Amino acid sequence: MHSEFDLIRRFFTHPAPGTVLGVGDDAALMRAAPGHELAVSTDMLVGGQHFFLDTDPEKLGHKALAVNLSDMAAMGARPRWALLALALPEPDEAWLSAFARGFMALAAEFHVDLVGGDTTRGPLSLCVTVLGEVPEGKALRRDGAREGDDVWVSGSVGDAALALAHLKRQAVLEPADAAWCLSRLDAPTPRVALGVALRGIAHAAIDVSDGLAADLGHILERSKVGAIVELSRLPRSAVLERLADRKLATTCMLAGGDDYELLFTAPAGVRQVIEDLGREQGLRVTRIGRVTAGAGLTVLGEDGAPMVLERTGFDHFR
Ligand code: ADP
Ligand code: MG
Repeated sequence: MHSEFDLIRRFFTHPAPGTVLGVGDDAALMRAAPGHELAVSTDMLVGGQHFFLDTDPEKLGHKALAVNLSDMAAMGARPRWALLALALPEPDEAWLSAFARGFMALAAEFHVDLVGGDTTRGPLSLCVTVLGEVPEGKALRRDGAREGDDVWVSGSVGDAALALAHLKRQAVLEPADAAWCLSRLDAPTPRVALGVALRGIAHAAIDVSDGLAADLGHILERSKVGAIVELSRLPRSAVLERLADRKLATTCMLAGGDDYELLFTAPAGVRQVIEDLGREQGLRVTRIGRVTAGAGLTVLGEDGAPMVLERTGFDHFR
């Protein structure tokens, strides 16, 4: 059996080129670039609650960091540093090694240094904190949407929720389709480059973690505006498009979480700029509606009539 210090040294000590002092001292030392603000976000994942206890640890490592990087993307911040607090029932080396592999691979891809954390015995749970940088005053906040803005979303929505429905046997998918949806659920891609590029262009942004309707609702509430979104415009994967159960498809797109796409508003004058950005980045960006005066979200169904957004739509995922 290895000591806690051994485990930290073996699995969580890596070069930290963007850091003054990383893992190993009483605290890490970092220096923010001049003229920048620090964006800080933390997320707690409890085993059995937020993920199945038998989840593939490599995928879990990826996802634990990915959801935090997605928060940075939604702020228009560039992620730089991460901290990882872990509680483990026992020091399972195979588990830790796979978890660290998933976590560190994504960290390397985004040039994020793991600068510290805590490792303790306890029911499996993890807490990741990410720090990022954004030029002063340029963060994409939830409270900046204005009447007349377009509402945009990146990528496609509903795939992760469809994967969850598949796991719960509420949807029947071909194996290849299921694999695609599961990859969206297990290995979301944080839209960091898009978030950074939207500084000074978007008025407000959020990442889709709870579901498009709920997350857009957060922007509307914070910005004290309303919005109209057209269901027929929502970007969907081929798998969702050919799903026979259209009610489930709609629920996945509007109420399904875990997509980690960026949902943002921007003035009509920058439509072309945003289209060009999407093309440059090879990432679909879709205009799905507009911001209005008033409050609350109105979704127009396929027939053009306002839909009743039932709370029951969310029950699929409970
Ligand atoms: P302390 O008792 O001072 O909190 P620890 O023994 O908890 O120190 O941690 C020693 C060093 O290892 C610290 O730099 C801490 O940030 C780091 N560390 C501990 N656990 C992790 C982890 N899971 N991932 C990254 N760094 C960690
Ligand atoms: Mg400690």
